[in-house]
Amino acid sequence: MLLGRIVAILLGSLVALLLPPIDAGRAAPAPKVAKARPKPSPPPAKCEAPRFRIVVDVGHTPDSYGALSARNDPEFGFNFVLAKLITAKLKSEGFAATRLLVTDGKARPSLFKRVSAANDGRADLFLSIHHDSVPDKLLETWEFDGAKSYFSDRFSGHSLFVSQQNPHFAASLMLARMIGRQLKEQGLHYASQYTLPLMGRYRRQLLDKDVGVYRYDGLVVLSRTSSAAVLLEAGSIINRDEEMTMNSPERQETVAGAVAAAIGEFCARR
Ligand SMILES: [Zn+2]
Repeated sequence: MLLGRIVAILLGSLVALLLPPIDAGRAAPAPKVAKARPKPSPPPAKCEAPRFRIVVDVGHTPDSYGALSARNDPEFGFNFVLAKLITAKLKSEGFAATRLLVTDGKARPSLFKRVSAANDGRADLFLSIHHDSVPDKLLETWEFDGAKSYFSDRFSGHSLFVSQQNPHFAASLMLARMIGRQLKEQGLHYASQYTLPLMGRYRRQLLDKDVGVYRYDGLVVLSRTSSAAVLLEAGSIINRDEEMTMNSPERQETVAGAVAAAIGEFCARR
């Protein structure tokens, strides 16, 4: 229903104003962090896979679902499927202490719930899973399933974000690079638009131009976590082709495999 769609879009925009994560068009940067930096958890002497506590965070919540895909599916569902697969893959590769983190409620409080869950559980690594969109001004309209819908085929690809405010910035950057490298080796390309002026307030500093790691200091889940933390935008669901690809078990398997391989490498280096 058209009215329903408009309400959904307006709601989505409202949510965007509250939300720090990346989904470009649907998110705003987090406000300045007033409190002191989180205390870094002491780095483990070495990484033992079965005891390495990895938190795989499902971006957004069922109520506050993030971006809307070109075919009107909420981002939360894409994040959930992929994060679940990554968790299963990590467990099957010996990372038995991996935990899937699903959060409920409103957008902004949910960010602090995630951070508390990770910090209280003394996580060694925090990985947040998202899917990307574009700033609202880039959206075009088409008809899908009889309803006016929004898309942008202009950009595609994954991207990785780290915060320099994270107490383990160097380790976070190292892991993000490893994930980026693994994805590149699978023939996937990163989303390069974040450096462009048209991204406006979503513009980011590119820290690794080879594999697509960006700096996003203010993000709550990256800056307030006590462990190393990385946010992965696995692909663009506002792009009509890439949305279909991100829905395919093959791509999900490829991304999950790449992430698990990178974490294995990260662990081996500690
Ligand atoms: Zn998101």
